[in-house]
Amino acid sequence: MGNWEENVRKVVPYVPGEQPKMDNLIKLNTNENPYPPSPKVLEAKLDMSRLKLYPDPAADMLVSAIADYHGVDKSRVFVGVGSDDVLAMSFMSFFNSDKAILFPDVTYSFYDVWADMLHIPYKTVPLDEDYRIRPEDYKCGNGGVIFPNPNAPTGISLPLESVREIIEANRDVVVIVDEAYVDFGGETALPLTDEYDNLLVVRTFSKSRSMAGIRIGYAIGQEKLIKYLSDVKYSYNSYTMNMPSIILGTASIADEEYFREQVAKVVATRERTTKALEELGFKVLPSKANFVFASHKEKPAKEIFTAARERGIILRYFDRPRTDDFLRITIGTDEEMDSFIEFLKDFV
Ligand code: PMP
Repeated sequence: MGNWEENVRKVVPYVPGEQPKMDNLIKLNTNENPYPPSPKVLEAKLDMSRLKLYPDPAADMLVSAIADYHGVDKSRVFVGVGSDDVLAMSFMSFFNSDKAILFPDVTYSFYDVWADMLHIPYKTVPLDEDYRIRPEDYKCGNGGVIFPNPNAPTGISLPLESVREIIEANRDVVVIVDEAYVDFGGETALPLTDEYDNLLVVRTFSKSRSMAGIRIGYAIGQEKLIKYLSDVKYSYNSYTMNMPSIILGTASIADEEYFREQVAKVVATRERTTKALEELGFKVLPSKANFVFASHKEKPAKEIFTAARERGIILRYFDRPRTDDFLRITIGTDEEMDSFIEFLKDFV
């Protein structure tokens, strides 16, 4: 037997929330939107005969739609296969220092996986006792900074002035703000990209645009930053965006009214759910996302997670220090949340 395995890159992969195959589940585990995409997306025409051709490597139609939507030049927009792809490319492009990059200790659990895979040194910065990011903790020498805003899995939003404070203290490195959940009530850092050439804001179509299945994410920054990102992309895979993504993503952007309506519905259900959970003895962190992070005063989170699963209600549980008392609960439809609350009334 040869020892080829000695030369294999061994990694500990990110574990995504499960996508069970059973019907009739109440799926509150991966922060998908419970509502369908815009009718403009459902009715968009895809000419499948065009699949014989490569897609536009620059995805110009989609990039232009996103640029117009945010009122920036298209040279300031980068698109990718979900924000995971955009973030992975950003780690490759911008975190190229011997110094450790910084991110919160409780945050999106893909960051440390990318850092490990790409041999990027990192240091996690503890959230305060209320699970908030403290800007002053990010004022030390580092190789870059990344955090979600609102943070995940806490759902807590950082005020724009605190985001600015972090960028101001880190002008020699790239600061990435992952705004996967910002449409549900957070404060966007997009206006700051006009002022700071080292700020990259990353967004996704997976949550507020109900399009997790098509895989579209994007980043906005100044032209120089986007050029560096594109150079890495074209050194890796020219055709990240397929033809249906380009067409369907553009159709979604064209339906602002539907977008606002669906987001408002999710926000209203979040507020109602938060109140119901509090009445049942949960502490719920103040969420500006399409999920809540909640801990019961008596019942261990793991027990609730297991019992809910037996009833066909799938939640997310992170069995790690600081998060193992909590459940992350995606906001579903009102009916789904009512069923979940009914289950809890019996169980807790
Ligand atoms: N950032 C955060 C904070 C997330 O929770 C997620 C969802 N798992 C993503 C990015 C990636 O989402 P997507 O690749 O679907 O855009």
